[in-house]
Amino acid sequence: MASPDRISQTLTHHKLRHTPVRRAVLQVLSSSPFALSGHEVEQQISSEVDRITLYRTLKTFEESGLIHRVIDTSDTVRYAACSIECSVQAHFDNHVHFKCTNCQHIYCLNQVAIPAVALPPGFEADTRDYLLAGVCRECKE
Ligand SMILES: [Zn+2]
Ligand SMILES: [Zn+2]
Repeated sequence: MASPDRISQTLTHHKLRHTPVRRAVLQVLSSSPFALSGHEVEQQISSEVDRITLYRTLKTFEESGLIHRVIDTSDTVRYAACSIECSVQAHFDNHVHFKCTNCQHIYCLNQVAIPAVALPPGFEADTRDYLLAGVCRECKE
């Protein structure tokens, strides 16, 4: 559970105004142990927030580097909160994602870095996604 202080710090660090919607969205994402789709965020926000505002907030957060997209083999886009100091560039050298085939949750394995990949001459990557699938810790128990 992210503290109100941490929410404020994160918004301030990224030079974003502290609106109730932004606070609520960030609270939901940083309290979740796994990545959430826009729809799931919507369901978890207690106050009435219209969709357009919600999706605009997610976009702003993504562009500012507060959250990152988690790519799945399905077409669903999910988002996960980053650490306070995270930047867009930092995401490129980022962590591995893990999809549980049992509960369907996608986890950010922040402690597991994406291994270096040697590309053939002429290829230059802008983004990279590393997704492992299997059974998560919760489901294993
Ligand atoms: Zn699971
Ligand atoms: Zn992640």
